[in-house]
Formats: sequence, C-alpha cells, structure tokens
Amino acid sequence: MDAQSARPEDHDHYARLRAAQAESVLGNIALTLASNIFVALTTAGIIWSSTNGASILSWLAFVISLSAARFMVLERIMRLGLHQTRPDAVLKFLTVAALVSGVSWTPLPLLFAASDGDYIVFVMAGTATGAIIQSLPYWRSAIAFGAPVMGATLLSMLIESSTVSNYLLALNVALLTLMLFRASVLSERAFVRSQNVAMRTTQLAQSLAVANTEINESSHRLERLANTDVLTGLANRAVFNRRMEALFYQGGRERREIALLLIDLDKFKTINDTRGHHAGDTVLKAAATRLAALCASGDLPIRLGGDEFAVILSGRSAAARADDLARRFIDAAAEPVSFGGTEIPIGASIGIACAPDHAADEDELYACADLALYCAKIEGRRRLKLFDSGLKGQLDYQRAIDRDLGAALAQGGLDVHFQPQIDMTCGRVTGFEALVRWWHPDIGAISPPDIVSAATKLQLSERLTAYVAECACRFIRTLDRAGHADAIVSVNMSPSEFDLYSPALTLGELARRHGINPNRIEVEITEEAILDPQKVEAAFFELRRAGFRLAVDDFGMGHSSLAHLISLKIDRLKVDRHFVTGISASAHNQALVAALVSVSRSLDMELVVEGVETTADAETLRALGCRIGQGWLYGKAMPEAEVLTWLNRHHSRARAVA
Ligand code: C2E
Ligand code: CA
Ligand code: CA
Repeated sequence: MDAQSARPEDHDHYARLRAAQAESVLGNIALTLASNIFVALTTAGIIWSSTNGASILSWLAFVISLSAARFMVLERIMRLGLHQTRPDAVLKFLTVAALVSGVSWTPLPLLFAASDGDYIVFVMAGTATGAIIQSLPYWRSAIAFGAPVMGATLLSMLIESSTVSNYLLALNVALLTLMLFRASVLSERAFVRSQNVAMRTTQLAQSLAVANTEINESSHRLERLANTDVLTGLANRAVFNRRMEALFYQGGRERREIALLLIDLDKFKTINDTRGHHAGDTVLKAAATRLAALCASGDLPIRLGGDEFAVILSGRSAAARADDLARRFIDAAAEPVSFGGTEIPIGASIGIACAPDHAADEDELYACADLALYCAKIEGRRRLKLFDSGLKGQLDYQRAIDRDLGAALAQGGLDVHFQPQIDMTCGRVTGFEALVRWWHPDIGAISPPDIVSAATKLQLSERLTAYVAECACRFIRTLDRAGHADAIVSVNMSPSEFDLYSPALTLGELARRHGINPNRIEVEITEEAILDPQKVEAAFFELRRAGFRLAVDDFGMGHSSLAHLISLKIDRLKVDRHFVTGISASAHNQALVAALVSVSRSLDMELVVEGVETTADAETLRALGCRIGQGWLYGKAMPEAEVLTWLNRHHSRARAVA
C-alpha cells in the first residue's frame, strides 16, 4: 500500500499522510547532508592527494554548495511549514533535489575511478545506502538520489576493467542496489501502514472524545429538563424533594438550620378563570422572576405546581433570612403584572416553618409550613404566618383525624346524633337531622366540619355518607316502632361528593336493605352546591326520581339565584342560623326572614329555620309565618337511645301546654 492507495477518497487523510512523510524525510535530511559533505571532503582529499588535479576541488565545491543550498531551502520549507500545508509539492521538490544531488555524485566514479577505483566504489555504495536509509518514508527521493549514484558506479566498474572478478563485483553491487531499492519501497509501505494506524487511532480517539462530549451535553440537557419547571424555569418538585431529603440527612448529623417558605398566589384561580390561561401563565412567570431575584445564592426557589411556590433556606440564621425574604416577596408580589395592555393585581400569602424547631423530618416540615400557609390565607390576603406551637396542636389534631378516620368508619367508631325538627305551630315532631359525632380516644371531640373535610381529602366521603345514612335508616326503623312513622330524617351531603359517586344509588341501596320508603329520607346540600347547577342537576334529578326529598342547607349565606332553586325543584329551604338566632331583637333579620317566607311560599317550598334557641325567637319566627323549627330550644342533637326519652318528655310537655 502506498500513499495514493491509502483511502484516496479521504483527501484529508491522504494529505496528512503525505505531510507525515515529508516531515520525516525533512527531519533526517540535515544529517544526510552533513554526512554527504563529510564524505565529499574526505573523498576529495584522498583523490586530490593521489591526482593533485584541480577538477576534484571543483567537484567538491559544487557538491558542498549544492548541499548548502539544499539545506537552506529545506530549512525555509520547515520554517514556513510548507511540508504541512503543501506536502505533495515538498515531496516532489525533495525528489528533484535528491536527484540533482545524486547526479552531482556521478562524476566521482566516472572521472576518478582510475586513481582510487575500489575506494570510490565503497564510498559511492556507502553514500547511496546512507541516503536511502535516511529517507525510508519516501522511496522516490531515496531512489532519486541512489539511482544516479549507483548507476554511475556500476557504469564506471564496467568501463574500468573487463575482468571476470570485476564483472562479478559489479553484479554484486547491482544486486545490492536492487535490494536497497526494494527495501526502500517496502519501508515506505511499512511507514504508510504505521501512519495509517496512528491516524485512525487518533481519529477514533477524537471521535470518541466528541461522542463523549455530546453524551455529556445531552445528559446535562435531560437532567436540566427533568429538574426544571418548564413555564417558569425554576427548579421543580423533584428537586424540592431531593433537596429536602438531603438537608435532613445532613441536618440530622450537623443540626443544620433549615427554613421552608411555602407561597400561594392570592386569587390565582380567578385570574386563570376570568382572564384566561395566557394571563395565568404571565402571572406565574412574573412571580417566579420576582421570587428568584430576591433569593440569595444558597437559597433554592421552586415551583411546586399550580400557583404554589417554595423556597428552601439552610444554614446560619435561616429562619430570620426566611422571614425577611417572605416580607420582601409579599411586597414585590403586590406589584400588578402587565398583560395585554392591562394590569393584573396579584398578591401572595406565605407560610414558614423551620427545622429543627418545628419539625424533625422533611414531611413534618412541609406539613408545618403548609398549615402556616393555610392560616395565612384564612387571615386574609398578602399575609405571612410563621408556624408556632399553637399551630402544632392543630397539626397533631389534623393528623390524628387523617390517620384514624378510615379505621373509625370501618370499625363503627363514629356516632350519629339526631336533632329534632318541630312544627312550631303545634309542637309536633316532624323529623330529625342526622349529625355525625366522633370522640377520638386521644384528642376528644372532633368537630363535624373537620370530619367532613378530612373525608373529602381522603376520598372517604361516600363511606362517611353511607355510614351516617345507615344509622339514619336504623333510626327510622326505631321511630317507626315508637309510632312516628311519618317523621323524616335529614342526611347532610357535601357538594364535592357528587363528582365521586352516585348518591342516589348509594342511598337507594341502603333504603332498600332497611325496607324504608325513600321519602322518609331528606338530603341536605349546602347552598354553595347549587351555585353550579349543571354539576348538581343530574344528581338532584336522580335523587328525586329515586324518591328522596331535597333540601338546601344554610340558605342565605351564599348567592344562589331563585331561578336555580326553581329549576332544581327543591322541597325545603333551611334558613341559616345566623339569621335566626336572636331574631326577636333584630329588625333586619326579621325583614329578611319575612322575605324568605314569602319567596318559599311562592316557590312552593317549605321553610325550616335553624338555630332556634329561645322562646322569644320562636315566637317571632312563628309570627313571621315560619312553621318548622330546629334548635337548642327544642333539643340538641342526641344519641338514638336518648331520643326516645326525649320524645316521651316532649310529648308530655306538648300535651301539658295544649
Ligand atoms: P348544619 O347542617 O347546618 O348542622 C347544624 C349545625 O348547627 C349542627 O352543628 C348543630 O349541632 C348546630 N345547631 C343546631 N341547633 C343549634 C342552635 O340552636 N344553636 C347553635 N349555635 N347551633 C345549633 P354540628 O353538628 O357541629 O355540625 C356542623 C356542620 O357539620 C353541619 O352544619 C353540617 O354542615 C356538617 N355536618 C354534620 N354532620 C354531617 C354529616 O353527617 N355529613 C355531612 N356532609 N356534613 C355534616
Ligand atoms: Ca344540615
Ligand atoms: Ca345548616
């Protein structure tokens, strides 16, 4: 394989190979020239001593000048780096120069062999061999020098004497020359081969290095993507989880201070709903930019999702720095965000909790900050709340509910109490409201709204409603046996339940199992449910079709329109106790209840007033036209076993009054 056959399609590769050849030949040439001059000097000296002719001196002068000229030109080639940029031209030049140089030696055997024939043959063969050995990487230049030298030597031997031994000697010299030339060709091939291997290895190493860099870059890109919130560019929840875990792992050993800020944008949902998603995104991006701008270099701002952000601070005085950051962010977030030529007012509420003061692990710290945030939001917009021991009690309370509600429902650990509803005109008991009760073994009484919201959160709403309804069914059977076969029992339901299951199916199945006519059961839904009539319409329709009665609870607190009430065909409206308790002294509430009485009459709905606590209020309500009343004046919610005693007492009292 010679240089031309070494991947000719790969021009670059070929050029580099040629450059390596040129460089190698050039590297050796100084030594070759120096030795040539030395040999020329000594040879000329010997010939001159025997012939004393001036021609040998001329030859010597020529050879030395030529070598010197070659040396200078080659030196310049090296300096200009032409062997790298134009290796082909340089190699050609080297070949021609070698040829000229080789020719310059030819006079020696031809002109002076007569005087020192053997010596000249020896010197010529030696010079040619030396020159060839010095330019092994490129046979053309080696042979360009060697061919004229050896040719002239052979010629002189043949001319000089025609003895057999001389012919034999000439034959040997010719053989030696051919072997030298062959060795030159072979050695160039070996050189090319080794260069090819070296270049391919370098190429491979380079492409491996490039591939490695690319792999590193794309793995960095992937890592960035996996750790970044696409919309805001902040770190995402995965980073949050990892950082919290790592901090607590280290914190556990070093007692490092950790502060967690949880941030919620005020009324973000409204912005999204009323101004559209683009506006929502703009607000989120602006909030993220402002938050990141306020964070110090070690703080980690994160978007947890939706409009929820967090910042993790750690190290010396983390709590104080968190407090300062939170205050500055609340101010920064109060600045409206420009969108589509208008300004969107925004705001942020923040909860802060710190470790090790408030929490021992990352979950607890998050729960503490979350509770603080919850309280901040309850207190109003743009508030900051630091977790404290009071909240800690609340957190323990909440945790106990979350932890034990499922088991309490499964094991019958909850109670259902029944509060009577009275026809205020005659004192007759018309029904009861079923109200859930839970006495937790560790923390005591749990408020019903907390039970209900925990059930929603834990997706236990259906089981809670079924539990209460089951007790209500059993209670109805008890009422039947006690001679109150017309009494109705109301069961509360939270509006969110309609999305999760079919109340008509669940209640229908229970009523069937207990052999109860569904019209003995009333379903109470708070007024907020009917704000979204589409959502409840289907559920209400099914309940009504199954024969259950429907009531709107806490009426007056929300914003339900009369049109909705009419379309939903409600049986009863329960007036919230805020308008009822103390009504005898409130002209305003009297006017309101009077209006509700007239509305309910025209819509053909029955009105129930809740929170009747005094006879004065009962009198006023009766005077305003209210018929059904519920409240502590008549009886608190009581366990089933107490109801029968209460009923007996109530009837004897009613009879006494009559
Ligand atoms: P609600 O449906 O409006 O129930 C009436 C609440 O007012 C009951 O509180 C009752 O004990 C109280 N109450 C009754 N009469 C008076 C009175 O004269 N004065 C005063 N100050 N209060 C009176 P409770 O039992 O604490 O229930 C609170 C709320 O929890 C209920 O309000 C209801 O929304 C919810 N709830 C109770 N049990 C259940 C249930 O089984 N399922 C669902 N989904 N919600 C329930
Ligand atoms: Ca109720
Ligand atoms: Ca109510």
